[in-house]
Amino acid sequence: MVNHLSSYLGRLAPSPTGYLHLGHARTFWIARQRALAAGGRLLLRNDDLDSTRIRADFVDAMIEDLRWLGLTWEEPVIVQSQRLDHYRAALRQLHAAGLIFPCHHSRRELAEASVSAPHEGGDHDEPLYPPSFRPPAGTTLPPLDAAGLATNWRFRVPDGETLTFADGRCGHQSAIAGKDFGDFLVWRKDGVPSYQLACAVDDASLGITEVVRGADLIKSTFRQLLLIRALGHAVPSYYHCPLMLDDQGERLAKRHDSLSLRILRAQGLTSAALLASFESGQSGL
Ligand code: GLU
Repeated sequence: MVNHLSSYLGRLAPSPTGYLHLGHARTFWIARQRALAAGGRLLLRNDDLDSTRIRADFVDAMIEDLRWLGLTWEEPVIVQSQRLDHYRAALRQLHAAGLIFPCHHSRRELAEASVSAPHEGGDHDEPLYPPSFRPPAGTTLPPLDAAGLATNWRFRVPDGETLTFADGRCGHQSAIAGKDFGDFLVWRKDGVPSYQLACAVDDASLGITEVVRGADLIKSTFRQLLLIRALGHAVPSYYHCPLMLDDQGERLAKRHDSLSLRILRAQGLTSAALLASFESGQSGL
């Protein structure tokens, strides 16, 4: 029975950059189980900001696949590309607080000067931003006018600060800012927020109480915690799901077309069989 007094609000946040695969299905199924157990609700967020990789047909396919899995969510669907005002407002807040700086270095310069962050258990993370590229603290920032919004901006991480959170599945997590991850992108010169900023703004401003997602995003959680704190919002709880691996031990990615829900469905897989395999813990099929 649904407990309407429950304040639990979760979210499903697929990116329409390919077809959903078994790994997504299992993560979203876990998100649903957790929402059901708490008598709460789920939102669907369409993470459609990466205009070079998203496709309209992937949006339709993603919604159809989620329905096929039997998932339900509150309407309306949250569409990130329609929320640019919220992200610009957050950027202005970070700018006013002096917590960001413009970065004019090319991808190549960054790759050449970057040092790799220590990797934890298969976490494919970006290299550390070279500290020599960072302007001194207190440097006057250019305004966020049209030119300013057509600039890459990075968040200045509090070097040496240990950040922690208690993950609902993985337990105590900690990372040191400036060592495990460096100054990260919050705004892209094509006028859109980075994944980190958009996700932090949405999770916080939509009142998400628990974020359920893949364990590959644990390091991103530390970045998002910094942003949520800087924006003055309450921090949600986090639950990072185990990643699904292929036969070679590689984590599933959208390039694993053979494991996409569409193909498995065309081969006769039913959602009942899939969900039963998740329940029994044998999701390898
Ligand atoms: N759209 C992001 C992804 O698919 C969502 C990540 C998240 O749940 O925060 O990786």
